[in-house]
Amino acid sequence: MQTIMTRKALEIPPFIVMEVMERANELEKQGQHIVHLEIGEPDFKTPACICDAAKDAITQGQTHYTHSLGILPLRESICAHYQDKYGVQISPDQVIVTSGTSPALLLLFCALLDPGDEIILSDPHYPCYPNYAAFLGGKPVLVKGNENEGFQLDPEAIREKISHRTKAVLINSPSNPTGNLLSPERMDAIANLGLPVISDEIYHGLVYGQKEHTILEYTDNAFVLNGFSKLYAMTGWRLGYVIAPIRFVRPLQKLQQNFFISAGSISQWGGLAALRCAEEDVASMKQVYDERRKYMIQRIRDLGFGLPVEPAGAFYVFANAKKFGQSSYDLAFEILEKAAVGVSPGIDFGRNAEGFLRFSYASSLENIRQGLDRIEQFLTTR
Ligand code: PMP
Repeated sequence: MQTIMTRKALEIPPFIVMEVMERANELEKQGQHIVHLEIGEPDFKTPACICDAAKDAITQGQTHYTHSLGILPLRESICAHYQDKYGVQISPDQVIVTSGTSPALLLLFCALLDPGDEIILSDPHYPCYPNYAAFLGGKPVLVKGNENEGFQLDPEAIREKISHRTKAVLINSPSNPTGNLLSPERMDAIANLGLPVISDEIYHGLVYGQKEHTILEYTDNAFVLNGFSKLYAMTGWRLGYVIAPIRFVRPLQKLQQNFFISAGSISQWGGLAALRCAEEDVASMKQVYDERRKYMIQRIRDLGFGLPVEPAGAFYVFANAKKFGQSSYDLAFEILEKAAVGVSPGIDFGRNAEGFLRFSYASSLENIRQGLDRIEQFLTTR
């Protein structure tokens, strides 16, 4: 049958983890108890000081469109945050506040990619990166990471993929799905390849026992993507930002004006409070994540999954499950149907991630224990 839908809309791949979640929800409706270890969303409530600031914003009538770049105090606070944490100097004129990191990514790809242009990504990667690029007619060029190196991007392997159509390389440290960090040496080497670097820093702040670095410590030829969803447990607020070299701001601003007008005003006031007053809340959430991380790593290794490098960031453990099945999609759905635990199949994150499963510890220790007990039971009786 003829369709009025675009090929692009018909062909964009699904976000498989969402499909696992939706099937889990169906099973729950039928009365089953499911343990969710597939979700990449903090289970904590947004800290009270942030909620209070948003309530104040409503009371005070801060309920209108804002400047398309975002409210100035928020952009100033983002600059102060990058100065205090990493010692880098940026100006509020370089910051575009968006309705989440996802729109920030969309604006940036719209500004950088003409049809046929290439963008270099790691494999595995966050699924939306290649899907956005391909939607815009761009070509994702993948560089395989090595499991024994924590799937870190290798600067020399990137160099081999550079062509006259390459627009940028995208890094994500700590990474979704692996939870691993890029070493400072590799970041420096990537910055020196001469390509613009896009750095998705959304998991910054959720780092345990190591130190994360912003790409801006190594080069100004860079775009930072960041947001409030993960660190401040603000997924539903939809707030993020891009930091761009000044000459790119005007095109990005025009895209923002046309597509979104501005980010939500109330969320922006909440975001300002997050940067100003949520330090203690973040520290206590981080401590809880770290306890869960240690527990999960140990249990996953004991269950026989491969995990040569301990993940030190975000809230994910990305484990080699090849000895339990070649198709991560089939294995994830089998675990869901038979063990009543949601996990994310590696194939969602790239071909090089086939045979792996992503476990999220954005869930209580009790849930994690129960979920892994069920998987243990499933694997021993299978
Ligand atoms: N980048 C990465 C690596 C992510 O994991 C996510 C959320 N899963 C996003 C960007 C988008 O986050 P948001 O739109 O909620 O800011």
